Amino acid sequence: MSIPKLSDYKDVVGIDVVGELYTLASHVGKRSIKMVNSTAVGGGVAEMLHRVVPLLNELGIETRWDVIKGGADFFDITKAFHNALQGKEEYFEEEVFKTYLAYNEMNYQEMSFDEDLIVIHDPQPASLIKWQEKRKNKWVWRCHIDMSHPNQQVWDFLRTYVELYDAAIFSSPLFSPQLKIPQYRFYPAIDPLADKNRELTGDYVDSVLEKYEIPRDKPIVTQISRYDPWKDPVGVIQAFKMARKHVDCRLLLVGDKAADDPEAEEILAQVNEAAGDDPDIKIIFLTHSIPTEINAFQRASDIVLQKSIREGFALTVSEALWKYRPVIGGAVGGIPAQIIHGYTGMLVHSAEGASLQIRSLLQQSELAKRLGENGHQRVKDEFLITKLLKRYLLLLLALDHPGESTVLLD
Ligand code: UDP
Repeated sequence: MSIPKLSDYKDVVGIDVVGELYTLASHVGKRSIKMVNSTAVGGGVAEMLHRVVPLLNELGIETRWDVIKGGADFFDITKAFHNALQGKEEYFEEEVFKTYLAYNEMNYQEMSFDEDLIVIHDPQPASLIKWQEKRKNKWVWRCHIDMSHPNQQVWDFLRTYVELYDAAIFSSPLFSPQLKIPQYRFYPAIDPLADKNRELTGDYVDSVLEKYEIPRDKPIVTQISRYDPWKDPVGVIQAFKMARKHVDCRLLLVGDKAADDPEAEEILAQVNEAAGDDPDIKIIFLTHSIPTEINAFQRASDIVLQKSIREGFALTVSEALWKYRPVIGGAVGGIPAQIIHGYTGMLVHSAEGASLQIRSLLQQSELAKRLGENGHQRVKDEFLITKLLKRYLLLLLALDHPGESTVLLD
């Protein structure tokens, strides 16, 4: 399938929405952006950048994407920082911060930062700005993680660099820390025309389930997420085992490995142990996900779970809602922005809560269907890539008018 162009989105969101993007782009004029993150594959940030970058280029905003490099020691540290910022208690020695800065400095020396706007994603490259002493362009830090309970030591360290930026972007007001710089709120977004989300034929969906030997004799409950403690895959197994005492169903756990994530194997071992030899639990670990296969797993599911205990946003929730699936999500981070409890899905606070909702939705197909339909509409209104493009264009305009609360366009 060819790569979708902006004009293709008219059929999904309407001609006015696409027209508005071109109007805003004409106000922005000729500009350039550089996106910087730490992995080209795996996880939500890479997922979005793969689509946002070409579409911004199509709008006339010259956009590039660079990925920073690092050894295993660097990614162990940045994963530990990530966990700490999401609330894990841990004390770090001075050496750790020095190593983090040394890798950032090495990357800084190897990269160029000539674009009008530099968008640095997440903590891994956050201190690159330290070496950019005199700058004519704007730098923005885009934080995708759940910062509702940050570890103070790591946050105090990073904040020194974050406050050098022109602005910071968070996915929820719940995460917005006290900062001396302006803050904006961006929801992440999914691409309805990407292979991950586009329509599939029933035959293709069947072939994927056959390939992975997943029988369709019972309802399928699925969680698709990296094997990461915050996604709580062990809690998913507990919830499933409790629910299955009352309703017959299968559990499908699918996860891949982000290039910058050293933790997956360890968590996978815990998951396998929790699952035991239960024939109704299928655990799939992918080195590289094929987007249409993930799409097929989501479409084949009777219920999609995202039982996170901390969560920046969870694109997986929007992906499933877009496919009219009833979704049960942890009431944390960016998930409640997508799931309005009882209307676009169900929010839970525990494995017991998740198990009750699995039972309830498998027994009430009308309710499950309604949640999926409402969820689809919510994603259409708020969480599609066209909305994210609009936010980037508005960001460029807002940064031209620092300190002003209203920007008038002629
Ligand atoms: N994903 C995937 N294969 C997997 C697990 C996840 O393709 O085995 C995708 C998922 O469909 C979503 C992204 O990776 O598009 C994960 O983004 P999310 O915001 O849910 O979580 P993150 O991994 O960024 O914490």
